[in-house]
Amino acid sequence: MSGRSIGAYFPWCRMKVAHHNVVEGSGRAMVRLEPDLRFRPLCHECGRVGRRIHSHARKFVRDLDFGGHRMLLQVEHRKVFCGSCRQVRVEKLDFVDVHQRVTLRLGAYAAELCRLGLSVDAVARHLDLDPKTVKTFDKAALQRDFGTTNYEGIRRLAIDEIAVRKGHDYMTVVLDYDTGRVVWMGTGRQIATLDVFFNNMPDPVRNGVEAVAIDMWEPYIASVRKWCPQADIVFDLFHVVKAFNKVIDDIRNEEGRKADAAGRATLKGTKYLFLKNWGNLRCDQRIRLNEILSLNQRLNTVYWLKDFLVHIWSYHIPGWAEGALAEWCGVARDDGHPALERFARTLERYHYGIVNHCKHRIHTSKIEGVNNKIKVVKRIAYGFHDLEYFALKVKQALPGRPEDN
Ligand SMILES: [Zn+2]
Repeated sequence: MSGRSIGAYFPWCRMKVAHHNVVEGSGRAMVRLEPDLRFRPLCHECGRVGRRIHSHARKFVRDLDFGGHRMLLQVEHRKVFCGSCRQVRVEKLDFVDVHQRVTLRLGAYAAELCRLGLSVDAVARHLDLDPKTVKTFDKAALQRDFGTTNYEGIRRLAIDEIAVRKGHDYMTVVLDYDTGRVVWMGTGRQIATLDVFFNNMPDPVRNGVEAVAIDMWEPYIASVRKWCPQADIVFDLFHVVKAFNKVIDDIRNEEGRKADAAGRATLKGTKYLFLKNWGNLRCDQRIRLNEILSLNQRLNTVYWLKDFLVHIWSYHIPGWAEGALAEWCGVARDDGHPALERFARTLERYHYGIVNHCKHRIHTSKIEGVNNKIKVVKRIAYGFHDLEYFALKVKQALPGRPEDN
């Protein structure tokens, strides 16, 4: 069978199709490529013309499937004496990297499937490739598109941490709040972590940052103050409610332990009743919750505090927000439970960031949405324990849209 007729499918310089055949019944096809002698071989390292051929070698390279067949290229290539490197070098091939056994176009296709949302494992199975190979190509494509930090157009930031391993090991995520774009990710959640981000930020952008939404976490606060003293720090409701839900749950458990058998039975399995918003409860769930609240004064107070906490974030006028905050802390202190007193102290210490919300209406749902999306990426990409790859995947999944404004 002549190999010439399929040459157009392998439009690579310095190599030509010498032979091709389909391995009957195996679903595989083989194409043999040989050097095109009209060209002199190049050194793969420096790209210069190799002066002398040192030897001939062969490698097998997977290519895109062809006509329903798995395609294997038998590449007859050369090694050259490179005068510039002063070494024997493998010749440069424009369709496959020197250490790879997969063509660049198959690698690009694998990366594209990853970009569309398939997991590396799914792509590897689909293309019959090693998952490590798929990841290498995906990561290289991501590096190209998202490898450098783009500080353009930033006015308001939301900064958050995510746990990458249970209980310890955190990463810091910096979001352009106005577009929803993940700008940067770094390992850790310390001052030094954020310092890296701000240190590389061009001065005009840094001086133009108007607001930063964060959790009440001192290292972040310190770093933002150091680099963007003009920016308003805003504490978003999402994190505050999350912290208060923990207090609610602890107190509910404590009340359960204190109660008699009947009281314990009433409180059993009611965690979600307290954590869910009233509006999301079914009619029977509301009745049950009301029953509990009428029987237990402390839980009644705690539930009221939860509702009122959300309310503080709805004010537009700083003075009113201050007043509501003072009222909240007063009720919490009157109850006398140490956890409530602690929470009141925290809110008072950070009151500036709560009042700043009147000026910068940072929506909690947006931050929550980003967190949820990152969790999906984590499931898909985290198996590799490669935090750099994970960060690139997050940036790819959250490229931001101007219409999110
Ligand atoms: Zn060279």
